Parts: sequence; structure tokens; C-alpha cells
Amino acid sequence: MEKRTLGKTGLSLSIVGFGGFHLIEIGSKEAAYLLNTYLDRGGNYIETAASYGDGNSEQKVGRAVAHRRDDYILATKCEVRDAKGASAIIDRSLKYLKTDHVDVLFMHAVQSKEALDAILAPKGEMEAAEKARKAGKVRFIAISGHGHQPVLQDAVNRYPFDILMTGFNYFDRFNFPDVESKLLPSCLEKGIGVLGMKSVGDGYLYRSWEPAIRYVLSLPIASLVLGMNSREMLEKDLKLAERFKPMSDAEREKLFKKAPELGDYVCRMCGKCHVNGFDPEAIFRLEAMYDRQMDDRRVSDTAQFALRERLRFWFNQKEEAQAAYTATKTKVDPDKDYSSLNKLCPYGIDIERKLKIAHDKLSGDGYIF
Ligand code: SF4
Repeated sequence: MEKRTLGKTGLSLSIVGFGGFHLIEIGSKEAAYLLNTYLDRGGNYIETAASYGDGNSEQKVGRAVAHRRDDYILATKCEVRDAKGASAIIDRSLKYLKTDHVDVLFMHAVQSKEALDAILAPKGEMEAAEKARKAGKVRFIAISGHGHQPVLQDAVNRYPFDILMTGFNYFDRFNFPDVESKLLPSCLEKGIGVLGMKSVGDGYLYRSWEPAIRYVLSLPIASLVLGMNSREMLEKDLKLAERFKPMSDAEREKLFKKAPELGDYVCRMCGKCHVNGFDPEAIFRLEAMYDRQMDDRRVSDTAQFALRERLRFWFNQKEEAQAAYTATKTKVDPDKDYSSLNKLCPYGIDIERKLKIAHDKLSGDGYIF
């Protein structure tokens, strides 16, 4: 399996990492089979977290592969924001993982300015991480977060993190474009190693899982962490990694045009409908923040509906989007006919209809699409 260098750490990681969250869903014996097979096939990055099953995942990793500790780069995560509590959790992680050190310790799930401030404050989590690094318990300090690009950008500006991990996928690249266009280049410029996760959008991109993974592996990241909880899934992911070839520009364009999850509803932010000072894209960017443009007000099958409802407010930025819409001058007039814009969209989006839906979501003034 191809290996890539993880920024200034110099670590050489297999392009697919083993994500430990889903180990809590299976027994220790099966977990051991999956982890050892992954290592035997050339994978070398195993990642877990203290909070996954309150140590369950870490214990399964420790039992399964501690006897071959030199074969893998090991990462865990801590989500306790004070130094005393974090130190205790780090020591518990080492005990559960049956090792004297982890290669990477993540400040886990940093989603708000308040969390970041608490981590970096005197007697905060960072003090525990630095103490552990000095004691040889931790080699590199990292940060992870789902979405909330401004918080992660602020974090890498305020502290010299070695590694950053966040979500990348071809769906959310159109909802939170700054992750790829700003945060990723900024990390690379600072020598911060970048890891990817959420390539299949928590299952939302299940119809396109292979191009979804290839899309993220084609970004300038070191490794993509995939959660695996069955032999079938492991085999599919390993095969894809073993024969991986970067996506060509033509393949990417085809994916953006044809992917069923994008369809004729998700705005690709191409700017082609910006006319006479009116910019629908600016409104769709707020809709993206509101619910990832997932609710297209069409009838869908029950499974798809349930998946969408579970995921669309996952980033919890609904109120922020509504406040931004209230503050903006570019608003939709619900009584106006915008249908002349429809012909401008190369992705076949019914801009007139989508503008009214976006207004319904964002205005909170009782307008019902
Ligand atoms: S033309 Fe279509 S894809 Fe491009 S910005 Fe407008 S709505 Fe979005």
C-alpha cells in the first residue's frame, strides 16, 4: 500500500488508516482479525479515542496488536479539557493500549472557540499533552474537529500543532469549501500533517463510496482514516487502497456533475448565475451552512429520508446561518419570479425553486415554500 509523509513529523503513513470507532460494535476476536489483517496487508496507522465506548475501542486495539507494536503508528484522542483530567485519561489510554507511548495524541473534537480556549488556557488540556510529550508518552500533538473550519484555522494559527485531522468529501466541499480551499493549504504551508476522515459523509455517500474515497485520497493529505467493522468492508477498502490511482480532472468533473447526492439540487458554487448584482450562490452558501443543502423538499424513500434527517444538522450551524441571512442585504423576495436564472446553471438546478426553499429555511419569518 502506498505510503505518504505526514508533514513535519516525518512519519510515513499508509494512505488508508484504520479508524477504531466501529470496533465498539464488534467483539474482541473479530476486532483482532481485522486489525491484524490490516497490518499484514501493509496498513500502518491505527487510530482510536479514549471516548470510543469509554475505552472499549482502545482496549480492543491493545489486546489485538500490542504484541507487534513496532508495526504501526498509533494515535488516540482525548476530549477532557483540563490538565489534571486529561493527564489521567492519557495514562488510562496507555494502559488500555498496552504501550508506553502513543505516536499521536489528538485534542479531540474541537468544535468551538470555547473548547479551543479551554485547551490552550493555563491548566488546560494542552499542558497535559506537553507534559506527556516531555515524559515520552506522546510523540506528536494533533487536533481533530468535524467542520467548523474557522475554529480549526484559529487553532493552527495559535498553536504549532504537528497534525490536523478533519472531514473531507466531495459533497461537503460544496457546503464548507474553505476546508479544502483555505485550511488545507494553510496547514501544508506550515508543515502540519493532514489526515482525512468522513470521506463517505457518515454513510450519506453510500451510493458512490468508491469515487468518494478516491476523491479524498487524491487530495494532498497523508492518510485517510476509514472505519471498518466487517471483513467485507476491510477487504473492499484494502483493495481500493492497493490499486489506488489519483483521480484525473475529467473524473472529478464527472463526479461533480453526476453524483446522485449532488444531483440537480446542491449548488456547485460556480458563480454562473450571478447577474445584475444578485448572487444566488451567496444565499446557497448560507443554505449549505443551515442544513448542508440536504433537504430538497422532494419525496424520498424512507431509508434515504432517515439518513438525511440524521445528518443534515450535524454541524449545528442552523442558527448561525439564519443570523447571517438576517444580516445580509442579498435576500430572496418570495413574490418575485427568478425562473429566468434557471437556464444559467450548468448543473440543471431549478434556481427559482431552490431560492424559495432556501428563503423558507433561512428567514424564519413564517414563509412556507
Ligand atoms: S449556476 Fe448553479 S451551480 Fe453555479 S452558482 Fe448558480 S446555482 Fe450554483
